[in-house]
Amino acid sequence: MDTELQQVIRDFKAYLEQEQRKGLKAVPLSTRIINPGKKTTAADPANSKTLEQLHQQFANCQNCPLGSTRNNFVFGEGNAQARLMFIGEGPGFDEDQTGRPFIGKAGQLLTKAIETTINLKREEVYIGNIVKCHPMKDPGQPALRGNDRPPTAEEMAACLQIITRQIEIIKPDIICLLGRTAAQAILRSNAGIHELRNKFHTLNFAGKDIELIATVHPASCLYDPANKKYVWEDFKKIRDFLKKV
Ligand code: SF4
Repeated sequence: MDTELQQVIRDFKAYLEQEQRKGLKAVPLSTRIINPGKKTTAADPANSKTLEQLHQQFANCQNCPLGSTRNNFVFGEGNAQARLMFIGEGPGFDEDQTGRPFIGKAGQLLTKAIETTINLKREEVYIGNIVKCHPMKDPGQPALRGNDRPPTAEEMAACLQIITRQIEIIKPDIICLLGRTAAQAILRSNAGIHELRNKFHTLNFAGKDIELIATVHPASCLYDPANKKYVWEDFKKIRDFLKKV
């Protein structure tokens, strides 16, 4: 069955084509330069019925330029029947080195917040990203720490089908979107994170209505500890929601 997110992908591709015809090189969603890469050639993700099958299906994906510079494909990890799922924008240095999502300093902060505010263990939730390969400022230096950048609109459009299928397979009750890039991409919005956070949004995935809530990216709390209060506020909303359903 079609999902709203699959419609997002189609809309996004149509929008990019329209912008390119106009000669524009940037789109408001991410403000990154559009640089068309290879067309999607992988089989339909709907053919995968489990996370393991989906992982195998895309482990060697080259559907966008990030596939040629990654050290590791970072699929996501956690409970395949999780009630709560987290989605960030993409892997960073530590994640690219290990193939695991959110395991650097920002990931450690996320894990602590999950445990202390939502009262769940990290293993009880599922954690993934919109793009599965590390977006680097300088792809020629994959071993350089701090060489991170947000994914481009084109990279996200190429990869959204994987996280969409992950959501369809896991069927969580609620999804927490970590940071502006992930929130804008999934919620199809150009609004800032402070307009999008601290409230519930609903999207339908394969026939199931799923609640979504956005919060600031945990990495932003490392740069400015005052941002922790936003994570705490939003996570308390998640905790209260999970108690009710
Ligand atoms: S980021 Fe996604 S679409 Fe691009 S190569 Fe990696 S898995 Fe494929």
